[in-house]
Amino acid sequence: MKSGPEAIQNLSGAVFNKATGELRSTGWKDIKLKIWNTDEQISIPVMVSTRAADVKMFLAEMTLEDPAKIEIMTKCGPSLKRQRAGDEVSSNLIVKGLKTFGKKVQEYPHPFCVIGLGAMGLRQVIHNVRKKTDFVAFDRNDDLGGNAWHLIGNHSSKLQTEGVHYQLQYDIAYGGWSELCHIEEMGYWPNRGEIISHFNSVFDSYDCWQYCKLYTELTNMNIIPETRHFSERKYDMSWKSTRPGDDSTGIFRSSCITYYPGCLVVPHRKLWPGEENFGGQIGYGFGREFDFALVNGQDGIIIGQGAFSHENVRSFVENHGRKVYVIARHWNLMLPRMLSWWINQAIQPMGAAMVLEAMTPMYTLMGWDQWSWYSVTTNADRTLASIKQYTRWGISDILFLAVYWGKAEIFEAEVKRFKHRSVVLTNGKVLTDVDHVMKVIGFDGDFGVDRLMQTKENIGLWPNGDWRRFIISDNSAIDASRFNAMSIAPAVAMHSRVTEYFFQHPEMAYACLGSGMLPKNGADVEHGSPCYHYEPRVHITTFMTMGAYQGDLGTYDSMNTQFKKATMLVYLPIAKYVLACKEDWDHYCAMFKEQGWDKPWPKYPYTAEYVTEMLRLEEEEVGAEFAKRAEKKTQAQVQSIEMMLPSSGLSMEPARTVLRARNRNPEDTSTHSRQNWLNEGKGVKDWLIEHSKGRHAVEA
Ligand SMILES: Cc1cc2nc3c(=O)[nH]c(=O)nc-3n(C[C@H](O)[C@H](O)[C@H](O)COP(=O)(O)OP(=O)(O)OC[C@H]3O[C@@H](n4cnc5c(N)ncnc54)[C@H](O)[C@@H]3O)c2cc1C
Repeated sequence: MKSGPEAIQNLSGAVFNKATGELRSTGWKDIKLKIWNTDEQISIPVMVSTRAADVKMFLAEMTLEDPAKIEIMTKCGPSLKRQRAGDEVSSNLIVKGLKTFGKKVQEYPHPFCVIGLGAMGLRQVIHNVRKKTDFVAFDRNDDLGGNAWHLIGNHSSKLQTEGVHYQLQYDIAYGGWSELCHIEEMGYWPNRGEIISHFNSVFDSYDCWQYCKLYTELTNMNIIPETRHFSERKYDMSWKSTRPGDDSTGIFRSSCITYYPGCLVVPHRKLWPGEENFGGQIGYGFGREFDFALVNGQDGIIIGQGAFSHENVRSFVENHGRKVYVIARHWNLMLPRMLSWWINQAIQPMGAAMVLEAMTPMYTLMGWDQWSWYSVTTNADRTLASIKQYTRWGISDILFLAVYWGKAEIFEAEVKRFKHRSVVLTNGKVLTDVDHVMKVIGFDGDFGVDRLMQTKENIGLWPNGDWRRFIISDNSAIDASRFNAMSIAPAVAMHSRVTEYFFQHPEMAYACLGSGMLPKNGADVEHGSPCYHYEPRVHITTFMTMGAYQGDLGTYDSMNTQFKKATMLVYLPIAKYVLACKEDWDHYCAMFKEQGWDKPWPKYPYTAEYVTEMLRLEEEEVGAEFAKRAEKKTQAQVQSIEMMLPSSGLSMEPARTVLRARNRNPEDTSTHSRQNWLNEGKGVKDWLIEHSKGRHAVEA
């Protein structure tokens, strides 16, 4: 029915449609829907003169079932009577053609395949085990932990973010608090060994090993296209053993694939002129490629100043190296630990200007001005900013501290050539008496992933737009005016649901693809970026676009965000975290003093009072800004409200609210919950009536 001149509302609130000659009530009633031959039922608020056809279409929309299969019946004595499409809907209905009020879940004939047992793939495994999904996971390595912790991290590498948000079992919907390790058990900033042991112990406790094959590399994929239904498509994945002495191979047939290959995979390698004359140790500063035991009492240089350079400084310091020079082609902004905590506990993404402002205590101690960094763009009064650099955040206090004591020195230059025990830089400086060279000059993504997945371009997270296959990795650079999180657990808890959601509801994947809004990403060979690896802003657009088609996950998303804050504040409350940072800071200060470095002992630059103020700013300013945005959105919604007429899309919104509430926890069938869902729907109905009233008056 239109809301134009032919729809006229009379004084009693009924609506007369000139075109059809109907008079339809705009009053409301609650109707009960029960699925035939089951105990499943819900009550929804609808306008009195809603037709049976409207309810049928509503059910089809919400369950993704074919409307032709759905029948709406009423009880008529001992028998059932079909409601005709145009009948005003009765208050007690039996629904045939549905098994549940939840969205129809697609079933597949073959198990799912998870590729990669790094931190991200492992998280998908835990989720699949919890959901009893039929799957097998593979990794070519001999242990859990991925490229990050096996090939790149070395024995003194530490997690740069906080251990709370790196736990595999982290999930508000599965045990929440009770499943998390205590912070003392996981460690504030666990090292490589502790992280791998955490992964293994979670795997033991969830009994995951039966689903996982280590020492197994997937080498080829044969796509067997569907003949009738899309769920029939299958992937024959060839595998080979990587176990020394074992040359077994095989094929694993799968219906859907989630691939977590990592983005820091292939280390850059480069030889400089004169290396052969250097005479000291030259190696790559990751994995076991550099012997840190040899640096004791000697000087070294680290080439590169990305995130992993911080860990090399730590390894150098902890192995009692004397002095280290960091050679930075671009001197990237460094993030003090305290800010990682602050961003990780925030509900709303933090503005870059606030992040820069909060760097002040650390940068002032160093005599640096963070606002003048090459990577920062800001307005005149520094209320808005963005940060763009070609590496992830290097998060630590160790590099700041080492520079403060003179133990480390950073040069913004490039290495020109080596001479015997010395290094010539492009700025003309010559570093002499150097004994060790650690190269940490970045990583490429894995082009083997594009080959295996036969990807020409990724559309969203789907190779060639095939939604039965997801490839997900984190970013290797920064380009943002807001920062949401520094650690992966909250995001990955969501990722593992996103893959499941689209596999279960392919209609939503088709809708998402059909929107034409998903970014397309091709390989950039020159910059080491395969199709699955995105520039940060493309990454955000991808997730936002896909987010628009997974509305049912909205509630989980907001619970997940609340949990992110709560876990941080409970496990690492301000005073405790500041104290932990301070103790670590003082531990290194004592080490440097003992080694003979002579400087006034620097106070840890962040106090509990300062951090409390940071928190207040985050909660008040960011909160206020987002409240303003929410208000604007509400106003826009109010503006878009049309006259609420029976059979209009808007009139079914309260009913949709009930089903969304029900789908938050489909296992819950109690009368109490059903009443709560109905109340949520009625709340939306009241809001809509209130905001559409004026419009009625104008348009009637
Ligand atoms: C030293 C270091 C410190 C870090 N610190 C932090 C931190 O503090 N906080 C944070 O959030 N992040 C940190 N990161 C970032 C890190 O990249 C992520 O946290 C995470 O570990 C990445 O996991 P992933 O599963 O995506 O990839 P990866 O760890 O790269 O694992 C990918 C896995 O896929 C496997 N694989 C790929 N292709 C195949 C195939 N064809 N067959 C079989 N197996 C295959 C590989 O063998 C590998 O094991 C750090 C990284 C490093 C290196």
